[in-house]
Amino acid sequence: MNNELRLILAIQKNGRLADDSRVLLERCGIDLLKSKDQLVCKAQNFPLDVYFVRVNDIPTFVAAKVCHIGILGQNVLLDKQINSSNSQLDSIEAIMKLGFGRCRLSIAVPNSHDYQGLSDLQGKRIASSYRGILSQYLGKRGVSAEIVSMQGAVEIAPRMGMAEAICDLVSTGSTLAVNGLKEVEIVLESQSILIRNDTLNSVQEELLDRLMLRLNGLQAAKTRKYIMLHCPINKLEAIKAILPGSESPTILALQGLENLVAVHAVCDEGVFWNTMEDLKANGASSITVLPIEKMLD
Ligand code: ATP
Repeated sequence: MNNELRLILAIQKNGRLADDSRVLLERCGIDLLKSKDQLVCKAQNFPLDVYFVRVNDIPTFVAAKVCHIGILGQNVLLDKQINSSNSQLDSIEAIMKLGFGRCRLSIAVPNSHDYQGLSDLQGKRIASSYRGILSQYLGKRGVSAEIVSMQGAVEIAPRMGMAEAICDLVSTGSTLAVNGLKEVEIVLESQSILIRNDTLNSVQEELLDRLMLRLNGLQAAKTRKYIMLHCPINKLEAIKAILPGSESPTILALQGLENLVAVHAVCDEGVFWNTMEDLKANGASSITVLPIEKMLD
């Protein structure tokens, strides 16, 4: 098969982003063979090859042009860009937020610390795996602290007397709570992103456009709902005004019912119980709200 005609994507092999990345591809209609140990997989029904790698290697793979695109956390890209002297990393572009893997890189201190602000950290030791991002954050705020580099289990550092604070990724905060720590500063908000390099030929650019159209279609569908209802013709304007974020609903005649019409609309915003109650109070009946799986505008 001609590689010039295929797009190459790197995703995480195992870990927090791995399943969501695979599911996202599946929802884009891209079938991958399911073997867990495989490092490279050719999609069956889209000209896409997928490399399964460690998430921290994805920026390097994309910068080295081994892959054209990648899915990873914003924190991972920023960390690589700050820490590495490889100028090719700077040419990587984040082209889409994907909405999963949401987390924060946060500073936390022991619950007993009566934290007043960043100046409390002046001259203190902060344990972290994110030396680059943290030192940039502290430097910009004029705080000078010693960063104790650790590769994992950062949250035990205060208990072991190795540091007065930590800086680590947090999503629910339960790991911090279990270790008697409280979150006091958010250094970075992160989620998964799609990144690309600048080496795609025109065929690959077209494939990336197709992939992004599908991803956008999934994102649009996530926030939108399809609503169907019946209403008296003389209440139509009132009903249209209540439908959240819907521009031009479809109005259909109902056989044998001359004074009633069916209204079908795609709503941009959530349709909540109180919206449905408002619709009912204004004469609507048979109100049905359906999720939308995919959308192409
Ligand atoms: P790999 O084994 O691929 O090198 P890893 O073990 O370094 O991965 P994971 O723990 O799988 O990394 O986390 C991958 C990414 O998931 C993080 O870089 C971050 O973007 C995101 N993430 C979301 N929530 C959290 C969380 N609570 N803790 C850590 N990472 C999180």
